[in-house]
Amino acid sequence: MATERTLSIIKPDATKRNLTGKIVAKFEDAGLRVIASKRIHLTAAQAGEFYAEHKERGFYGELVAYMASEPVVVQVLEGEGAIAKNREVMGATDPAQADAGTIRKEFALSKAENSVHGSDSPASAAREIAFFFSGLELVG
Ligand code: GDP
Repeated sequence: MATERTLSIIKPDATKRNLTGKIVAKFEDAGLRVIASKRIHLTAAQAGEFYAEHKERGFYGELVAYMASEPVVVQVLEGEGAIAKNREVMGATDPAQADAGTIRKEFALSKAENSVHGSDSPASAAREIAFFFSGLELVG
């Protein structure tokens, strides 16, 4: 399997509860390497642009407000099959459906406040990495 890069976001519910280190440990234990990382506080406009593909969904306004409510940690993770591997480590969107040992099973508060975001395809990963980072900031 090829080495890939994917975009991860440690979401407001998790940064607020001081879970950044515990979540990064899950990525590293799964063989994913953090090759870029920064803590930022998104504006509602930035969060809205990032999640533009969800504009038509009923929860879009809530999602944007939540993502702009507290700081987030945005990271690029690199590894073999990193996009799918990160989604595995994250677990299902709804923590009630997530497998044991996943980040969302252990830490998520609800389907909305679910602690992490991860790119879902190579095209999304490319767009999302470029949304937050310049090439100079990716240090593999
Ligand atoms: P993901 O790829 O597993 O993050 O899931 P989706 O792409 O389906 O949804 C994107 C994000 O929108 C989720 O991670 C949640 O934070 C949020 N979300 C999903 N469903 C709901 C919902 O029913 N209500 C609210 N408020 N947010 C939701």
